[in-house]
Amino acid sequence: MAEQVGQIEQAGRLPRGELFLGGRRRPSGDGATAATIDPSTEEVLTEVALATARDVDEAVAVARGAADGPLCRMTPSRRATLLSRLARAVEAEADRLTALEVRDTGKPWSLARGEIGTCVRYLDYYAGAADKLHGETIPLGPGHLAMTVREPLGVTVHITPWNAPLSLLCRSVAPALAAGNAVIVKPALLTPLTALALAEIVERSEWPAGTFSVLTGTGAQAGAALAAHPGIDALTVTGSVATGRQVLRAAAEHITPVVAELGGKSPQIVLEDADLDLAAEQVLTGICSNTGQYCDAGSRLLVHRSVHAQLVEDLAERMARLRIGPGAEDPDMGPLISEDQRASVRALIEEGRRSGARLITAPTGLPERGFFLAPTILDQVTPGMTVAREEIFGPVLTVQTFEDDAEALALAEDTDYGLAAGVYTQDVDRALAFSRDLGAGYITVNEYFAGGVEVPFGGDGLSGNARERGLVALESCTRTKSVVLRIGKG
Ligand code: NAD
Repeated sequence: MAEQVGQIEQAGRLPRGELFLGGRRRPSGDGATAATIDPSTEEVLTEVALATARDVDEAVAVARGAADGPLCRMTPSRRATLLSRLARAVEAEADRLTALEVRDTGKPWSLARGEIGTCVRYLDYYAGAADKLHGETIPLGPGHLAMTVREPLGVTVHITPWNAPLSLLCRSVAPALAAGNAVIVKPALLTPLTALALAEIVERSEWPAGTFSVLTGTGAQAGAALAAHPGIDALTVTGSVATGRQVLRAAAEHITPVVAELGGKSPQIVLEDADLDLAAEQVLTGICSNTGQYCDAGSRLLVHRSVHAQLVEDLAERMARLRIGPGAEDPDMGPLISEDQRASVRALIEEGRRSGARLITAPTGLPERGFFLAPTILDQVTPGMTVAREEIFGPVLTVQTFEDDAEALALAEDTDYGLAAGVYTQDVDRALAFSRDLGAGYITVNEYFAGGVEVPFGGDGLSGNARERGLVALESCTRTKSVVLRIGKG
């Protein structure tokens, strides 16, 4: 632990809080800045620039210059080489990037280190795909030749959230770069540091100036100006449903395609034949990882009535044993991201209690400073309660019981979201039946966060409209052009 704190202090060189566009860093047009805070200590880390609408115009112009110029002329194999080099550079700076993520988000060191490893995987995976984006020939008979060509879109915008800052940035940016686009990133204002550190890495690379820009700033100003901009070709927004709606509305003006990766209210379904020890461990991971601040957090436990009491008791004991503390000490669980987030989670817990849920809170001593909150179970929740329907985005598990598989499925499907679902059973037929019938985009069996960068991820309903990760992500980074030739004179 001491070693990690030492690494954090050593690696703690903060990036300059400036915009990065056209291959150089500069303050925002009006010089405005905002502080970014360490949620573990409530200490101000640094100030970062707030991009204006004019900064957005300039970023789009320089990205367009790169997209229509050097990127157009670059071979796919060269893009693959540059992306691989970026992966190696990120790997070489993994300790610093981890330290910055720990400070900016409060998340435990090991978790942050894992996420930086995932960034490297995204860059490597899509580097491997950069020279394999080919079209098809389509048989039309002897008089014609038809083919499709896959082209880059041009300028793509990536609006990212605070819960897994660099890994979600790389999730959408790596395929966009592999496909030959120029990218503009707007990180969440609460956690801009790793995006800025990545800009420093790109600055030292051989990517043409304007290929990668970072505009720190607010959603209302920088984000909204990007979403409404006529000069962009596509946009990915990863965030809340409210933000997704605003971005989709703004983008509709210019018919800009939007990949929306939004919230969730994902069930974890424990059948009576499950290995209960494994289920307890996985359900806990599903709700307490990253302090419950993952879009696919398994926040609704649906458990067979016959094993309900045993499982809830086991979960309460496990929660009570969690080490909660500053991210730098590599605890099991860090703080929430901000005071606002903590207030919102507390208000929902109180709302659940008032509407009749049984509250079980781990009796853990929490650090005095920092936005800490004890993990909480809300048992005896009924389908109409707000806590059963709204995303809480904290370490709060609601519990409902069922009598048979049909009721479990009905409860699981009683949601406006459709991101993820976990099923715990030792019967492969029942697991496959749930996988077939559940409306979620990402279903795991007996290991809640199973999968990786190769496996497509995304939601339906309010959770979103697309899939990222895997090869399918490249579809929304390219356009297909069809070319049909008449052959001969006949
Ligand atoms: P948020 O919606 O508040 O912010 C996300 C990003 O959108 C930020 O960069 C923000 O500045 C920007 N933004 C806000 N308003 C905007 C506007 N009007 N126009 C353009 N941009 C705007 O989300 P958050 O609080 O940072 O993240 C938490 C949410 O993100 C949760 O709902 C979580 O479920 C969701 N999330 C989804 C996924 C996924 O893959 N589906 C992954 C992570 C987080």
